[in-house]
Formats: sequence, structure tokens, C-alpha cells
Amino acid sequence: MGKALIIGAGGVASVVVHKCCQNPDVFEEILIASRTVSKCDALKEKLQGGKTKISTAQLDADNTEEIVALINKFKPDIVINVALPYQDLTIMDACLAAKVDYLDTANYEPIDTAKFEYSWQWAYREKFKEAGITAVLGCGFDPGVTGVFSAYAMKHYFDEIKQIDILDANAGDHGYPFATNFNPEINIREVTANGSYFENGEFIETEPMSIKRVYNFPEIGDKDMYLLHHEEMESLALNINGIKKIRFWMTFSERYLTHLKVLENVGMTSIEPIEFDGKQIVPLQFLKAVLPDPASLGPRTKGKTNIGCIYQGTKDGQPKNYYVYNVCDHEECYKEVGSQAISYTTGVPAMIGAMMVLTGKWKKPGVFNVEEFDPDPFMEQLNKQGLPWKEDFNPSLVD
Ligand code: NDP
Repeated sequence: MGKALIIGAGGVASVVVHKCCQNPDVFEEILIASRTVSKCDALKEKLQGGKTKISTAQLDADNTEEIVALINKFKPDIVINVALPYQDLTIMDACLAAKVDYLDTANYEPIDTAKFEYSWQWAYREKFKEAGITAVLGCGFDPGVTGVFSAYAMKHYFDEIKQIDILDANAGDHGYPFATNFNPEINIREVTANGSYFENGEFIETEPMSIKRVYNFPEIGDKDMYLLHHEEMESLALNINGIKKIRFWMTFSERYLTHLKVLENVGMTSIEPIEFDGKQIVPLQFLKAVLPDPASLGPRTKGKTNIGCIYQGTKDGQPKNYYVYNVCDHEECYKEVGSQAISYTTGVPAMIGAMMVLTGKWKKPGVFNVEEFDPDPFMEQLNKQGLPWKEDFNPSLVD
């Protein structure tokens, strides 16, 4: 049916490539392009021989002209951006220039400012509309599936949703004293930033990790979870009519937080460049270099993740609560695609989003967040592609 250019060859890209190859009727041909071409070649080596034709290329995705040249050569039907958030705009510019659909899993973040928000990418709405091409923003799990869950809840179960609590639990154990489950630089920038939640039309900022709750997660049990700022709150606040409150919660162990505090206190999480041995280095980028590569956690990680959303609202004038979530097992993911569940739960939705665009189900000109599309075909694919979801109409609420 179509051709996809996959940019990036890290943990998430590896899952996207595996999953595209499992769906060769949709993904007839893929080109894996990234900064380090040997990583692309390694993926090709592992997966070639199936129905999907795979090729690779070296690409600097900070350079729009290079991306345009590659797109013009390969002529993909969609570009799946699973590089880093810093490359979102250069890749969107290239898609505009070459008139090809675009999908990513994380919103743009300037490399020198730890500030992630949609304003930069939403500024492309008119340009994509005029060019007649589709951009799907934030199509991983959170953001991504959490937006699809929200659209599904709205479509099938509520007249009005007043409150959303997004709960992201990782009960996986990789056996290291400290490691991050996806790109350490992006992960640490996210968790050391101020928290925030949406209430009555505005975002209220909180000190990092200052609001904690304990929640009894299905199939996982009691976990400490902390309120964080997370990008999907920004789009859900706009796209869910009548919404009054949105909070995002992520679980962290005491051990993780203690390590992080120490690293922060000694200046290792800073993104301000410093002079070292006559060279400028960014402490956080140095830290990334010494921490375990998230891709290496796959074979060591045991346990499960549980990510979902609790909705409170009304239906036919009656109050109604609804919890929808996915439980994913790290070891099962590794058995299937050689990655742990964090990469898996991001890569599978990215592939499904691209499938939605290629099959015309999510094809409209403009720049959209996932909750702006019909959730039903996506929800159906989640069940087929390894991320089945469960529902609870009487969940425990987060106070
Ligand atoms: P990795 O660091 O494992 O992979 C990133 C890849 O991008 C690497 O292969 C890297 O190349 C490549 N890359 C970086 N810069 C460039 C560049 N300038 N040109 C070309 N390629 C480049 O990250 P992950 O796979 O863990 O994460 C990928 C994306 O997924 C991130 O944007 C992350 O924020 C997002 N994410 C989203 C989640 C969600 O649920 N929505 C959850 C988890 C992650 P090299 O190998 O040379 O370093």
C-alpha cells in the first residue's frame, strides 16, 4: 500500500521498524534514516527477508535540505519522525517542501531551553492545510494513546468530561541502580522541569515532584506517583469540550528520585554548557553518555507497565467514571521485538498512526493532535498490534 521514511534508529525506531515489517500489506517499503547509519543497517540486517522491502540511509535531520533531498529520492507516502524532539521542525519543514505527510511522538523542544509545548508546531497548521498534507503530532503512548483514549471516551461514554487523570506506571526492574527507559537527556529534562496541571482554563505550575499520591494500579499494585507537566494536557485542554481539570501522574521509585536529586545537586542535569579541558560540554549530554543506553535495558527488564486515563464526567445527566488502560509486560515485548515496554508502548502507536494515515482513515489537511481523529479504527488496531486495552467503569479515583 505505501512507503514510509522512518527517521531515527533508537529504541522507539526499532519497534516501529519491527511493527511495520509485521504489517507488510500497509508498509510495503521502508527507508530507515538516521545520524548513525550503522544502527539503521543493524535493524535492516535483523529484519530483512520478509515482505517489507527495507533500505537505509545516513541523515542529519537537523538539516532540512538533506531531508528534502532524501524524501525526493525515496518518495515516501509518510515520514515517521522517531528521532528526537529537537528535529521536529526541520522535519516538518522538509515535509512541507516535499509535500508528504508527517507523524511524530513528542512535541518540539529547543535544544537550549527545557520547554516543551505545541505552539511551535501548531504554527504550521495553515501551511500544512494549504499544502494538502497531514501532520499527526504526539502519536506515541503518552502523548498518543492517551489522546485516542480521550476521544474514545468522549465519543462512546460521555456527554461531558470534566476531569482527566492520566496515570503512567512503570513497575519494570532493569537491575541497575539508575537508568532511564528512554533517551536519558529527554527523560531527565522532562522530570526535572516544574510540574503543572490544568484547572478551570489555566495551567497551574508546581515545584518538580512536589505532589505525590499512592495508587493501586491494576496488575501492578500500589505505586508512588508524582504530578508532572506533560504535553498532551495542552492539546486535551483545547480539544475536550467542557474540560475543567487535567492532571498527569508518573510513578518513580524512591531509588530513582534519590539518584536524580544527587545528580541535580551536583550540577549533572544542567543543560548550560560548561568549559571542560578546553572544550564546551553540556553536563546532561555527558551524563547521557555515561548512563546505560535505554536500548540495552531490553534483555534485563522484568515487570509490567500500566498506562491509562481516568475520566470523570456525565452521561444523560448522570455522573459517570471510566478508566481505560493498557498493561504491557517488559519481557513479552523483548521476546517479540527485542525492546523493553517503554519503547514498545511508544513505537506500536507510532506505527498504528502511520497506518491510519496510509489507509486514509486519518487523512485530512492540517496539523492535528491524535484526539482530533476518529479513535475507533486506532482502538481496534491497539488490540491487534500488541497493546490491548481494558476498561473499568468503577475505578478508584485519584484524590
Ligand atoms: P533514542 O535516543 O534511543 O533514539 C533517537 C534516535 O534519533 C537515535 O537513533 C539518534 O541517532 C537519532 N537522531 C538524533 N539526532 C539526530 C539527527 N540530528 N539526525 C538524525 N538522527 C538523529 O530515543 P528513543 O527512541 O527513546 O525516543 C525517540 C523519540 O520518542 C523521542 O522524541 C522521545 O521523546 C519520544 N518518546 C515518546 C514517548 C511517548 O509516549 N509519546 C515515550 C518515549 C519516547 P544516534 O543513534 O546517532 O544517536
